[in-house]
Amino acid sequence: FPRDASDVAAFADRIRSGDRAALARAITFSESRRADHQAAARALVQELLPATGHAIRVGVTGVPGVGKSTTIDTLGSRLTAAGRKVAVLAVDPSSTRTGGSILGDKTRMQRLAMDRNAYVRPSPSAGTLGGVAAKTRESMLLAEAAGFDVILVETVGIGQSEITVADMTDVFLVLMLPGAGDELQGIKKGVLEIADIIAVNKADGDGAARAKSAAADYRGALRILSTQGGAWTPEVLTISGLADEGLDGLWARVEACRDARLRTGELAKRREGQQVRWMWTMVEARFRERLADDPRLAERVPELERDVASGALAPTLAADEIARVLGF
Ligand code: GDP
Repeated sequence: FPRDASDVAAFADRIRSGDRAALARAITFSESRRADHQAAARALVQELLPATGHAIRVGVTGVPGVGKSTTIDTLGSRLTAAGRKVAVLAVDPSSTRTGGSILGDKTRMQRLAMDRNAYVRPSPSAGTLGGVAAKTRESMLLAEAAGFDVILVETVGIGQSEITVADMTDVFLVLMLPGAGDELQGIKKGVLEIADIIAVNKADGDGAARAKSAAADYRGALRILSTQGGAWTPEVLTISGLADEGLDGLWARVEACRDARLRTGELAKRREGQQVRWMWTMVEARFRERLADDPRLAERVPELERDVASGALAPTLAADEIARVLGF
């Protein structure tokens, strides 16, 4: 891996030529806890930036069991058969707790895992949602530089992870189960607000009719809830990831959403905003690390926390004191 600037250029060449081993290694360095590895990965990303940005970036979410991996496996295989190069990445902050990633696991996508034109990478397994997302963003850029022109970023609906993934992609796809009515009660309003396309999965066999009726319910809910406005009006359709039904139609709508945003300039604006927010997220993460390690705070914080917890000290005053100690 690169040690100096000329190495970075040579390594970047390998990635640009589509060398999968080099891509995998670069991602491993980006995910490493070692500062020198991270620095090398950053230099590489910077070097490769001109080769990034051409892919269509699609976020995919849905509760466990909805059929994300089945659908991505089928859809991704269709795309590679049509000549696309597909990278599947994941944002799974729960992997921090479980010690293993439940998303983007190669064994969950057996066809894509064997496919020379696909690259399946599990979620980075260390850190906060912000940390995991930052690494996935770097992986996305590296994969684009390696020639992947479809990036699918998968996440489960844990906490803020859907919002985070919507904020690194062009189009956000939400998979739903074909349970009608009562199902609708359980879904988070926030997910509907960021969904560009809702695909009711498992629309096969006995599920077909229920999926249709669920789709109608979601259409109604979207009409009420949608705050989006802009080039794209969210759509609902039914698919079967398992029976491979409706996936061409789904992909056509994904591209239609991206194209609508491209034409109006919304896509460029969206990506610009994402880049800048990413920068500030990194800054905040640095500050938090520094705070956690600051010896001046280590002395004062336990006492301040105790006084704030007991109600003896107003949180605002305690914050003032912390800022004073830090010299702000
Ligand atoms: P994930 O947790 O969202 O990744 O869901 P999986 O892709 O692992 O699918 C969960 C279960 O649902 C598996 O048993 C799949 O075979 C099944 N499944 C996935 N998609 C479909 C579908 O379109 N139709 C039917 N009938 N079953 C499906």
